[in-house]
Amino acid sequence: MKACPKCGCKRALIREFSSGYGEVYLNLETGETDYSSIYEGLVSKRVRKYWVCSKCQTKLFRDNPIEINKALEEEDSDSQ
Ligand SMILES: [Zn+2]
Repeated sequence: MKACPKCGCKRALIREFSSGYGEVYLNLETGETDYSSIYEGLVSKRVRKYWVCSKCQTKLFRDNPIEINKALEEEDSDSQ
């Protein structure tokens, strides 16, 4: 699968629910804020079991390594 079979979009999407705290640093000398640690304290949890097309929301494949690999290696039917 190189693209969504329905609309041809090349991106798959899965949502994660995150909770926790991120840290933002303020440089007292320059006044710059540094957001590079913003995700470090977050715990993420996937709330859905399927990857879907990011455009049309078609269910593409299950969220496990075997199914993902299989889907990525699969040839699209219209590419032969
Ligand atoms: Zn699609």
